[in-house]
Amino acid sequence: MPILDKLLNGTPTLSYELFPPKNTGGWATLYTTMAEISRLSPDYISVTYGAGGSTRSKTVDLVSRIQDELGIETMAHLTCVGHSRDELRDILQTLVKSGIRNVLALRGDPPKGDKAFKPHPDGFAHASDLIGFIKGNFPLQIGCAYYPEKHMEAVSLEADIDFLKLKQDNGAQFTISQLFFDNGSFYRFRDKCAAKGVTMPFVAGIMPVLTLGQLTRFKELSGCIIPDSMVAFLSAGKPEEVTQRGVEFATTQCQDLLKNGIAGIHLYSLNQSQSSSRITENLRKLGHFPVTPEAPKAAKA
Ligand SMILES: Cc1cc2nc3c(=O)[nH]c(=O)nc-3n(C[C@H](O)[C@H](O)[C@H](O)COP(=O)(O)OP(=O)(O)OC[C@H]3O[C@@H](n4cnc5c(N)ncnc54)[C@H](O)[C@@H]3O)c2cc1C
Repeated sequence: MPILDKLLNGTPTLSYELFPPKNTGGWATLYTTMAEISRLSPDYISVTYGAGGSTRSKTVDLVSRIQDELGIETMAHLTCVGHSRDELRDILQTLVKSGIRNVLALRGDPPKGDKAFKPHPDGFAHASDLIGFIKGNFPLQIGCAYYPEKHMEAVSLEADIDFLKLKQDNGAQFTISQLFFDNGSFYRFRDKCAAKGVTMPFVAGIMPVLTLGQLTRFKELSGCIIPDSMVAFLSAGKPEEVTQRGVEFATTQCQDLLKNGIAGIHLYSLNQSQSSSRITENLRKLGHFPVTPEAPKAAKA
């Protein structure tokens, strides 16, 4: 079932994000992770689109393989970075021909070394433009990104919400967040969106913390709030317990979001299944997601 249909089904979705690795070792880890995640009976798996270079062509291959070999609904991420409209059209046509039904339409970040995003001369400057292009030409369900604590470049949260509304008006049907740790920010953001007419389902992108060192990087990259209470909780035990505490923090965060009507949880698994599996098991034990005893299919190496 395509993603929007699942989101409108009344039961929250549980999904996972993977990325195409750069080297052989990374692919071996990914196949193990795919087998593990397939045992969790995900509603869908999304695959990121690289900032540039050879992994970009792997996104389409990977979503096709996951869908064909594991029988799991997939979503390909796609960005405007460095692409003309014709190139984007080719990629989207390949997705449709491969039987993919969902795309996460993004602008993308400026390439390393560039301060500002420069659109391709015959490309798109904003995700909303890409969304309009997809909507008018391809039979795909369209997701987009949102930032409960504001996109780093946005002049204000209000302006960012106006552009989220534009993405919806141009054809986006659901939206997935940047990582966040402070649910209060998300609830305030959701209220502001509702007041501006953003009605598409909100999925929360949840990042299980593995190490304390990651927190500084997350803050630098996304500008997210790192609550003091979270740092205190993660640091309370022995250093080797941080990953387990990260799982506990994410479980509690998801539990709160689910109680407060989130349409779906999207786990940023970073191609590692351990934390994502534990969070999934915890949420199932808490009665949030049904246990589906489907036999997993094996991914071919
Ligand atoms: C769930 C999720 C998945 C992601 N996956 C990937 C991935 O696979 N690959 C990757 O490279 N990156 C990915 N990203 C990162 C994303 O590409 C960056 O955050 C990027 O900087 C913004 O993309 P966007 O689609 O939100 O852009 P936009 O919606 O275009 O917004 C970018 C900025 O421009 C502003 N803006 C938007 N529209 C207008 C307008 N019409 N006029 C003026 N200003 C405007 C916004 O306020 C914002 O500050 C992902 C992000 C999320 C949240």
